[in-house]
Amino acid sequence: MDNSTNPENSTEEQGITLRCNKCNRPITPSEAVLTPTGYRCPDCVRQQQKIFDTSKPLDYVLGFLLAAVVSYLGSLLAARIGFFIFLLGPATGAAAAEVVRFATQKRRSKALFRLFTAGLIIGGFPRLFILLLNIFWGINMNAMNFYAVLPLIYQVIFLALAIPSGFYRLSGKRRL
Ligand SMILES: [Zn+2]
Repeated sequence: MDNSTNPENSTEEQGITLRCNKCNRPITPSEAVLTPTGYRCPDCVRQQQKIFDTSKPLDYVLGFLLAAVVSYLGSLLAARIGFFIFLLGPATGAAAAEVVRFATQKRRSKALFRLFTAGLIIGGFPRLFILLLNIFWGINMNAMNFYAVLPLIYQVIFLALAIPSGFYRLSGKRRL
């Protein structure tokens, strides 16, 4: 078909029944985005997200660095308390979120949430790295056992709890 490259025609051919509830443009089911007020086209959704992006450049730096620092401090504490990481993990994520929220004066954006999450992960790396070295050292010393690996498992659980807790606290998005 010679006019198959025309987007107007190709959408007609696919039997479009959906329309964006803001700009009334026909949209395919695959590109339609379900919002609380109904289906929207990707352009309108992007437009709306821009309104909510209030972050300033410095916020990204602060969001990343502060998350990394709080996460690192949490991981130091996690190394000492063992099982209580199940409380410390979520608390560390929430604390990082509150610190960043304060430092950025509650400005928000998707990019900030991503950098914040990256900061939480990076902040946990030094402890993970040291524990991994310990385990490899333990293997060399022929002293490999469960109790050698346990601190590493605790640190991984600590991070796995801190990251979603911090993300949801900062972004305000509810768990799915
Ligand atoms: Zn639209």
